Amino acid sequence: QKKEGKLGIALVGLGGYASGQLAPALQQTEHCYLAGIVTGTPSKIPVWKEKYNIPDKNIYSYDNFDSIKDNPDIDIIYVVLPNSMHAEYTIRGFTAGKHVICEKPMALTVADCDKMIAAAKKAGKQLSIGYRLNFEPFNLEMARLGTNKVYGDIKKLTAGFGFLIGDPTQWRLKKDLAGGGPMQDLGIYCVQGICYTSGMVPVAVTAQEGPKTIPDKFTEVEQSLKWQFEMPNGLIAEGEASYGSPMNFLRAEAEKGTFELSPAYNYGRLRGKSPEGEMKFENINQQAKQMDGIALSMKNNQPSIVPGEMGRRDVKLITAVYEAMASGKKVKI
Ligand code: NDP
Repeated sequence: QKKEGKLGIALVGLGGYASGQLAPALQQTEHCYLAGIVTGTPSKIPVWKEKYNIPDKNIYSYDNFDSIKDNPDIDIIYVVLPNSMHAEYTIRGFTAGKHVICEKPMALTVADCDKMIAAAKKAGKQLSIGYRLNFEPFNLEMARLGTNKVYGDIKKLTAGFGFLIGDPTQWRLKKDLAGGGPMQDLGIYCVQGICYTSGMVPVAVTAQEGPKTIPDKFTEVEQSLKWQFEMPNGLIAEGEASYGSPMNFLRAEAEKGTFELSPAYNYGRLRGKSPEGEMKFENINQQAKQMDGIALSMKNNQPSIVPGEMGRRDVKLITAVYEAMASGKKVKI
């Protein structure tokens, strides 16, 4: 039975993020709930059915996914597939007449982002990207302090995200599925952090690939990279992403003091400090907050705070970083 007053979400792709974070978070949400699943692995079905009480009529494979258009229980398609599949499933979701939340990165090319945005418009439905930190208090505080210039102009802005990647066979290390290495997966958080902390979008970039110290794992994608964004006011914002070494920070050095998060991008237990001292915010369930925020904007027909246009902006920036890395030259954006 459809839950009164809540939008029904179908998760597409039952991997680590869908099962470890999104489905549990959907047990805490107010404006949406887990109504259905789409999976290519039949052996996952009994576990999900049992755990989340999902009726058979709301369970789909990738083959019969398009018939979800006839299912009034499903209002929102949430695409949690490998990066290269985001565009196709988002567009199929809109063709089925549903709203779509698409995980980051939105797609592998700006051209695909344009097609996704056009599909949303044609369907008259909303497209949001799974940017959980835009709903998260510590990161929102960085945006407030930076954009309101609470400590004056930012003089230095740096962001880094990395971890040591495990399983060498996973899709994250395959160029065709991931679109690249840690830039696509982790660097995107630094790109976001730089944009929302400065309140600006970069106009040019230079970038350098790091050494491959674990060459067996990185035959297709970069192990690490650094890049330097030139902001419209001349500020150089520096980013770094790595699958070889751990790092997790967002730091702004402003005229009247430094404000920073470390860790900045985890699901919880974030820490921040400013010239006022330790930041004191609750560590909320980020995914619940994000999905409720998005569902509410869909319900009220108000613009998403994480729209497809923002996803497209970031794909454009990531593409420019890779172009700068490959050419060794400064790339205008
Ligand atoms: P996983 O590898 O854990 O899961 C991906 C799932 O996609 C698989 O379990 C499978 O589900 C399905 N799938 C379909 N085709 C393929 C294929 N060819 N290769 C591999 N899997 C396939 O990935 P994650 O859950 O970690 O990531 C999924 C997406 O979510 C990515 O885009 C990632 O960037 C994003 N993500 C976002 C996070 C965030 O904080 N916003 C955090 C983690 C991930 P099935 O068996 O059901 O078909």
